[in-house]
Amino acid sequence: MQSRRDFLKTLTSALGAGAGILSASEKNKLDNNRFGVLSDLTLCVGCRKCEWACNEANELPNESIDKFDDTSVFQNFRRPSSTQFTVVNRFQEKGLNKTPLDVKVQCMHCEHPACVSACIVGALQKTSFGAVTYDDWKCIGCRYCMVACPFQVPAYEYENTLTPKVMKCDMCFEKVQKHGQLPACVEICPREAIVFGKRSELLQIAKDRINKNPERYIDHIYGEYEVGGTSWIYLSNVPFSEVGFPKLPHKAPPELTESIQHGIFKGFSGPILLFGLIGILMRANRKGKDIEQ
Ligand code: SF4
Ligand code: SF4
Ligand code: SF4
Repeated sequence: MQSRRDFLKTLTSALGAGAGILSASEKNKLDNNRFGVLSDLTLCVGCRKCEWACNEANELPNESIDKFDDTSVFQNFRRPSSTQFTVVNRFQEKGLNKTPLDVKVQCMHCEHPACVSACIVGALQKTSFGAVTYDDWKCIGCRYCMVACPFQVPAYEYENTLTPKVMKCDMCFEKVQKHGQLPACVEICPREAIVFGKRSELLQIAKDRINKNPERYIDHIYGEYEVGGTSWIYLSNVPFSEVGFPKLPHKAPPELTESIQHGIFKGFSGPILLFGLIGILMRANRKGKDIEQ
């Protein structure tokens, strides 16, 4: 596990090399030093402090941290939403006397993201840093990303009638990249159930934990290969399908969606560009009105 000093050193050198923007198909250009998060479900106690810290860091509606002690929320399965980029769900393990398993979910920051591939104006981007980021200025509100995501993560601000945005975790990109800090949820976790670092090192840590404690973990790192790999990876003591994770192929969805898109949109680049331009102008106009009000 990286100390804060090691983390900052790694970060500085990685950022010195430049955290560029990659298209979904530039899979060979993924930086070997890219970051990720390892989430160990066996360590999470469901305190939901990560939920509080995420809302605080992203200036989303929030309550006092004490309110997050309320475990009644676990009665319903929750998904990330436009007002919560991460949520913790509780699963009761099968069998008597088994302790429940708490599962924090957020954007998985796929290595070859379907959302990036689906976005026709490049509003979603896979950075060489590892995070999948979003540029609301480019977004035309088509919501193809919501349909494409295999984890049903991106949410839409339907309640914001003037300037609705697609809302999702960006791995605290600015906080980490500009200020050299840890993602807010990682920073607050009292159990180190979620750990930030180089994806390659996190994979090694996960493998070591499995090898040293075969009775504690199942032999599966979720996100190592699913949909071509994800930046957010998980360890568990029960099969992932029992705790809400979809069974997904190892092939990255963009390999499929890009070929379909290129087939469908071949010859339609003019209308698409026009559509994108109109969308951008409409958004700029809406923002102007918003500022005037
Ligand atoms: S802060 Fe850590 S221990 Fe608490 S719910 Fe979140 S991931 Fe689990
Ligand atoms: S989990 Fe969904 S929203 Fe996040 S990067 Fe992957 S496809 Fe995109
Ligand atoms: S990385 Fe940042 S945006 Fe993503 S869940 Fe954690 S606190 Fe929220």
